[in-house]
Amino acid sequence: MKSSLQIAAEASPRPIAQIAEALAIAEQFVEPYGRYRAKINLDLLDASHDRPRGKQILVTAMTPTPLGEGKTATTIGLSMALNRLGKRAICTLRQSSLGPVFGIKGGGSGGGYSQVIPLEDSLMHLTGDIHAVTQAHNQIAAMTDNSWYQKNPLGIDPEQIQIRRVLDVNDRFLRSITIGQGGAQHGIPRQTGFDITAASELMAILALVSGETHAAVMRDLRQRIGRMVVAFDRQGQPITADAIRAAGAATVIMRNAIHPTLMQTIENTPVLMHGGPFANIAHGNASVVADQVGLRIADYVVTEAGFAMDMGGEKFFDIKCRSFDAKPAVVVLVATIRALKAHSGRWNIKPGRPLPADLLQENPDAVYAGGANLQKHIRNAQLFGLPVVVALNAFPDDHPSEIDAVQEIAMSAGAFDVAVSTVFSQGGAGGEALAEKVLAAIEQAGQAKFLYELEQPLTAKIASIATTIYGAAEVSYSPEASEQLAKLEANGFGNLPICMAKTHLSISHDPALKGAPSDYTFPIREVRASIGAGFIYPIAGDMMTMPGLSTHPAAENIDIDEHGQSIGLF
Ligand code: ADP
Ligand code: MG
Repeated sequence: MKSSLQIAAEASPRPIAQIAEALAIAEQFVEPYGRYRAKINLDLLDASHDRPRGKQILVTAMTPTPLGEGKTATTIGLSMALNRLGKRAICTLRQSSLGPVFGIKGGGSGGGYSQVIPLEDSLMHLTGDIHAVTQAHNQIAAMTDNSWYQKNPLGIDPEQIQIRRVLDVNDRFLRSITIGQGGAQHGIPRQTGFDITAASELMAILALVSGETHAAVMRDLRQRIGRMVVAFDRQGQPITADAIRAAGAATVIMRNAIHPTLMQTIENTPVLMHGGPFANIAHGNASVVADQVGLRIADYVVTEAGFAMDMGGEKFFDIKCRSFDAKPAVVVLVATIRALKAHSGRWNIKPGRPLPADLLQENPDAVYAGGANLQKHIRNAQLFGLPVVVALNAFPDDHPSEIDAVQEIAMSAGAFDVAVSTVFSQGGAGGEALAEKVLAAIEQAGQAKFLYELEQPLTAKIASIATTIYGAAEVSYSPEASEQLAKLEANGFGNLPICMAKTHLSISHDPALKGAPSDYTFPIREVRASIGAGFIYPIAGDMMTMPGLSTHPAAENIDIDEHGQSIGLF
């Protein structure tokens, strides 16, 4: 098979105006950025109030190997397959961050015959939203330090400045730095650091703002930025971006970033790319406004939630769907034979290394041995009241005996159906069986529900995620975490949803625990909050908010040819 980059280079993108026209988006809402990208102006929301809303199809996965199991490829491929079946479908995806594109191989644009094109645009810069987030975030950070420096009228406690700086690059040297060096004219020395832009609270805000009109979305953006807690004073009272008078300027910097970007797949199916929050310390889903626009211009919106059902999947329901009139109808759970085998615990799989060769040999027994992981995710998805279709993302090394095993594992856990998907090697045609089963499941779909109520105490909400979704027997809190929870409730933030920050490589907090762990204690080390975005994030384990580069970063293989075409992006 050709390389993903070659397949992308040979595809024929249509001018973006044609893609918009096929969706009957009036020309005045289409703001082209070059020939193949366009912002869809949120004025469209005002003009399409009366349109019937489409249905959302959530694509998530079983617990992946470090390589990823193909959610993005499946999301793209399923939307193409639905179009082949004559349905008006689009997909909504997160925007790739430059850090991982140049750090680890691959980006978030799918692969093979299931890709967003033009590849370079979708992987780099797109329409500048990430830069706007970087800029707005650092503006607030600069104004916070300046308020402290300029006679400190708000009584900022420099030890408790919460906001760090952000940049869209993998750079471990920036994790911890001293700023304000060089004498009194140049600030006051203080320890802080950089996070990657995708970890900025502003990125989570961008992905969660909502409203029935353009003005309402803008108002929501302004209010959420204003509520961001940037520091605490010496009494422990929160100081917000509004208090330091930075929220207005930050909102202006982001005013164009709130419009989702229209792109297309290799088969010219429309794609809205918008927002790119992390899936551990944030909720890991494409933006609410992209889904809102999508639900008004298409009958089906296929959207991807980051990591597995226990992470982006749970957060899709309990965080994202709470913030708008969502219409989730079915969960597509991506599984691979290699991930099932990995959950048997018979191999030692190391991040950054290829999978062991003998894992790829025919071994249905190992597939069964790892089946508990897929089953737990199926049951978890069912807790939200929707039917679950398992998409077996096919790889060349899969064997029929192993595919039969997946069928049996999934059906015995109550999946609605299982489909083998070959969208990676065949594009939309390879997803038709999956699309048919998804449509059949939607026919039977009931009303989606949440896992917990917002009015419950924070510890009850945390316990309900840890014990039902993660299979823990109980939750333990460090003394620091208990103190932080009490402080959050005292400050009036107890009604926010929970965004658990934990590894994606296990259903538990421990990447070494494979399958479906049970009877363990889920340990919360620390509790933080993104008050502007609107969630509390308890932390279990070490969370990396500024990735580093490996011995051989992907960037080493990236170059440009004499025609200006990128080489080595995959
Ligand atoms: P996720 O969104 O779950 O992280 P992706 O769709 O980005 O997964 O796929 C992860 C990686 O695996 C990408 O490099 C992608 O090109 C590759 N990949 C996905 N599905 C297949 C497949 N069926 N065969 C070969 N490679 C695949
Ligand atoms: Mg993905």
